[in-house]
Amino acid sequence: MQKGLLSLETKVVHGSKGYDSQTGAISFPIYQSATFIHPGLHSSTGYDYSRLQNPTREELENTVAELEGGRAGLAFSSGVAAISAVLTLFSKGDHLIVSDDLYGGTYRLFEEFFKNSGIEVTYTDTTRIEEIEKHIAPNTKAFFLETPSNPMMKVSDISGIASLAKSLDALTIVDNTFLSPYYQRPILLGADIVVHSGTKFLAGHNDTLAGFAVAANNDLLIDKLRLIQKSKGAVLSPFDSWLVLRGIKTLAVRMDKQQENALKIAKWLKTLKEIDKVYYVGLPENEGYEISKKQTSGFGSMISFSVNNIAMVEKILDNVKLVSFAESLGGVESLITYPYTQTHADIPIEVRDKLGVTDKLLRLSVGIENVNDIINDLERAIR
Ligand SMILES: *Cc1c(COP(=O)(O)O)cnc(C)c1O
Repeated sequence: MQKGLLSLETKVVHGSKGYDSQTGAISFPIYQSATFIHPGLHSSTGYDYSRLQNPTREELENTVAELEGGRAGLAFSSGVAAISAVLTLFSKGDHLIVSDDLYGGTYRLFEEFFKNSGIEVTYTDTTRIEEIEKHIAPNTKAFFLETPSNPMMKVSDISGIASLAKSLDALTIVDNTFLSPYYQRPILLGADIVVHSGTKFLAGHNDTLAGFAVAANNDLLIDKLRLIQKSKGAVLSPFDSWLVLRGIKTLAVRMDKQQENALKIAKWLKTLKEIDKVYYVGLPENEGYEISKKQTSGFGSMISFSVNNIAMVEKILDNVKLVSFAESLGGVESLITYPYTQTHADIPIEVRDKLGVTDKLLRLSVGIENVNDIINDLERAIR
C-alpha cells in the first residue's frame, strides 16, 4: 500500500520505517551507541557518531517529518533547543516579525540572545495581516508564528501569512506545539519550517523533553539546519527519541479524547459565575474559530480562563487534586498553570497586561481522564 495515502491515524502508529527489518522487532530499537564502527577506510554504514546521525533519532525525525508533510525532520533535546537552532539561521541586521502572544521561553530567547547578536525583532498581533504588513521592512527575513498562541489561544492565518512571506522572499516559521501535525500541518499551508516542543503532545506522557524542526523542501535550508544541529549539538538522545516514537503511536487517540474533554470543560466553565472569560479555540464565539475551521482539523485541548476574583486563583491552585498544578501541557495527565508567574514570567508586565496574561488567568491542559472526574475536581476547588 502506498504510504502517502494512509491517514494520519494510521501513520502515527506505524512511523517511518516502523519496525526493525533485521530482527522483526515491532518496537523500533534503541541504538544506545555513541559511535559506529567503520567497515574500512572511506566507508561508513551511514552512521558515524550519534551527534551526527543515530538510527533511533533518525526514525523519529523521519516520522515527524512525514507527519508534518515536510522533507526533513531534526530532533533536539528540547523545544527551545529546536527554536534556538532555527533562529541561528539569521544574522546581524536581519529582521523578524513575531507573534506577540508567545511561549515565554521563546520570548526570552529572542530578548536575551538573538537581539544581542543584532537581530531585529518586532512583536505584533499576527492574527491580523494588516498589523504584520505595517511592520514589514526591507530586511524582514522571516515571520515567526505561534498558532494557536500560548496562553491566549489566538489564531493566525497561516496560508495568508505564508503567501505574504513568499512575496517578500521571507521564511514562515510556525510553532505547531499546541495542535501537532494531527490537527494542523503548517507546511501544507505554505510554511517553510515547523518547530515543536515535542515535550508536549508528540511525546504526550510528561516523561521527556524533546524538540523538533521540520523543513518543507528547500535543500539549502535543510543543509543549513543539519549543519546547525550537528555543530551546536543539542540533539535528542536515543532513549528519549524512542520515548517520543512510542508516544506518537497514540497521538491521534490521545488528542481526540483530550479535545472531546476540553470542549465539555470549556462549555462548563462558561456557565460558572466565578469565571470571567474562557479562551478555547473550539468555542464558536472565539475569535479564531472560523479561521481554525479552515486551516486545522481540530481545536486541541488547551483552555485558558480568567477568574473574577484574584483570590480564586490561589483557591483553585491549592485545592485541585486530580488536576496537577504544574507547568507543561499536552500530556495524558490534566495540568493547570498560572502563566503570569510561571511560563510567562519573563514577559514584561505591560506586555502581559496588554495581551490579557493577567494575574487572574489560568491555563488548563486537558488530559485523557474521565471528563466528569476533571470537572468534579475543578468544581470542588472553585466552590
Ligand atoms: C513548551 C513550549 C516550548 C518550549 O519547549 P521545551 O520542550 O519546554 O523546551 C515552545 N513553544 C511552545 C508553544 C511551548 O508550549
